[in-house]
Amino acid sequence: MRFPVHIVTDMLKWQAKNWWRGNARYPYVLMLEPLHTCNLACLGCSPERYNGDLKDRLSLAECLQAVDEAGTPVVSICGGEPTIYPELPELVEAIIARRRHIYLCTNGILLERFFRRGRPHRRLSINVHLDGMRATHDFVVDRAGVFDTAVEMIKEGKRRGYSVCTNTTVYRETDLAELEEMCAFLTGLGVDGILISPGYHYEKLGGDHFMYREEIHRKFSRVLELATRYPISSTPLFLQFAAGQRDYPCTPWGNPTRTPKGWKGPCYLIEGQYYGSWKEFWGGVDWNYWESRQDPRCQNCLMHSGFEPSVVRTLGQRPADIWTMAKWMQSAPRAHS
Ligand code: SF4
Repeated sequence: MRFPVHIVTDMLKWQAKNWWRGNARYPYVLMLEPLHTCNLACLGCSPERYNGDLKDRLSLAECLQAVDEAGTPVVSICGGEPTIYPELPELVEAIIARRRHIYLCTNGILLERFFRRGRPHRRLSINVHLDGMRATHDFVVDRAGVFDTAVEMIKEGKRRGYSVCTNTTVYRETDLAELEEMCAFLTGLGVDGILISPGYHYEKLGGDHFMYREEIHRKFSRVLELATRYPISSTPLFLQFAAGQRDYPCTPWGNPTRTPKGWKGPCYLIEGQYYGSWKEFWGGVDWNYWESRQDPRCQNCLMHSGFEPSVVRTLGQRPADIWTMAKWMQSAPRAHS
């Protein structure tokens, strides 16, 4: 199977529950950022996400309050670098006890520290950031040796029985032959999924590394083809969207983001406003406006966190899409000889 059945089942139950309650908008994945402290300063990451002081982190109780308020079946623990969060093992256990699924997003440098205190569980997936092969990844993270450490941690995670997937951002400079080489390499390591998302041009992030919409379409036409041969876990409908073959409204409420500064609106990327409570956030963002993508900052955006939820919420509208997703779920590309 391309995607764990127990996550799909819980997501379907969550959708049925919200349909029954008459909720037109409800979150799917909580993006939980317990801290904005990091041991790297990667290209493409905004300084707000890595410059924070550890003492300003969310408490364990605040993290769990966010998990309870959002109610989502899936929690993505990101940041900052979550393995720096001192209470990480306790946080993971408490989320598992709530019968949610966790993606623990990490650069891998301190993953050994988590392995010493944590334990594998079917509700926990380790998600290692990898933006290319050795030279490219070490350039992106601005430190030599990080690629080798990340790969060691992927192997160690698999050896210890964890579900391990990877997360790659495609930039303007990303070489598609290298991307395929990376997919083949990771497939050979036995990773459980390769998530590939577009980096996109938005003035606040600066630099020349982010792509405009047409460039994303060109690159993702190739990624779409790679997904037939490697265990890429981005859905085929999202990849078709990224390749310019279909269109979606944004679903900024699908992946709400809780940070040490509060609930972040309107979306994972745009720092419009922070809200002190879930109620203020959910009722305070103009969702109609942000769904429409009319804001100039949305022009080149094909963000995974904004549009994978759109795939989910519009799935029932076209039987052909349900068939495409069902076929994708059944397929399971593994290592090539
Ligand atoms: S289109 Fe992108 S930038 Fe705009 S609200 Fe959606 S996710 Fe955010």
